[in-house]
Amino acid sequence: MRAIRVERFGGTDVLQVADIAPPVPARGQVLVRMHAAGVNPVDTYIRAGQYAKLPALPYTPGVDGAGLVEAVGADVADLRVGERVYIISSASGTSAELAVADAVQVYPLPDNVTFAQGAAVGIPYTTAYRAMFLRAQAQPGETVLVHGATGAVGLAAVQLARAAGLRVIATGGSAAGRARVVAQGAALVLDHHAEDIGPAVLLATGGRGVDVIVELLANVNLGRDLPLLAAGGRIAVVGSRGTVEINPRDLMAREAAVFGVMLWQATAAEIARSQAAIHAGLVAGTLQPVVGGEFPLEQVAQAHERVLQPGALGKLVLIP
Ligand code: NAP
Repeated sequence: MRAIRVERFGGTDVLQVADIAPPVPARGQVLVRMHAAGVNPVDTYIRAGQYAKLPALPYTPGVDGAGLVEAVGADVADLRVGERVYIISSASGTSAELAVADAVQVYPLPDNVTFAQGAAVGIPYTTAYRAMFLRAQAQPGETVLVHGATGAVGLAAVQLARAAGLRVIATGGSAAGRARVVAQGAALVLDHHAEDIGPAVLLATGGRGVDVIVELLANVNLGRDLPLLAAGGRIAVVGSRGTVEINPRDLMAREAAVFGVMLWQATAAEIARSQAAIHAGLVAGTLQPVVGGEFPLEQVAQAHERVLQPGALGKLVLIP
């Protein structure tokens, strides 16, 4: 099968198309013929060798994706050959024609969701759900600030929040991105490159502040987020690319809390719970994954470059 192979960690030049033996599903695993593979920022951190957990070399990149079940290993009862599915996390890498994943990481893809959209579900929706509902315990009627709403996780957070009855304030870095977030039902969308979004957020909440912040770039924003929280406010830190200074008094005054979010910490039960909610939203159409760009497998290097550039418009996917 054709797959992307990485023989050594480095820049995008280490991403090579190769012909390799297809993976074989072990007990409890599923083999999926990939129709679309997700491109996530974490793929670039791993490829560069700058991530806490690195695969043994050589490896095939790509964590999430969508396709058709090609074969199932022993002890897999819930999934059938030919079924449309999405993968949250693959054991062999999704930037390939075929990928294996543990069955707990594979879920049915509703017929009203395309494969490209399906490749936007795994990491982004599961992370956004975990951040907002399992970590920050967001409640219907509360106001959430999605700080960095134009990308894959941010748009998922906006849709999940709207579907659950939260009011959404959001930010984006480009006019096109902000327009996309407005179309998802955010009440107010601000420019995160502007000098200070604080006054606009406080004005929009009658001076009270927001209940929850889903933070996509904490090293830039966390210090300025804290004064925007209402009493008892919670911040879920999803993304950060450096260090930041905060004033602990901003936390104390509001009895606020900051939660770290790491998708890989999710238990099988938590994953199953979040997929039940996500599946219901996909079927109902309240969740409609936004694809920001499609690339053929050969253009994986461009996709890895693009996912780190500003001007996000949704999730990037590879079409193997
Ligand atoms: P993405 O699609 O590339 O989106 C990146 C987002 O960050 C865009 O919305 C971008 O907005 C926004 N951004 C840029 N500058 C910002 C600023 N100053 N303030 C706020 N937001 C800003 O990536 P993604 O897949 O959504 O992932 C986003 C981050 O979450 C990445 O750092 C990723 O590694 C991390 N992540 C963490 C987990 C976890 O388990 N903790 C899981 C998934 C992702 P513009 O492009 O419009 O400027």
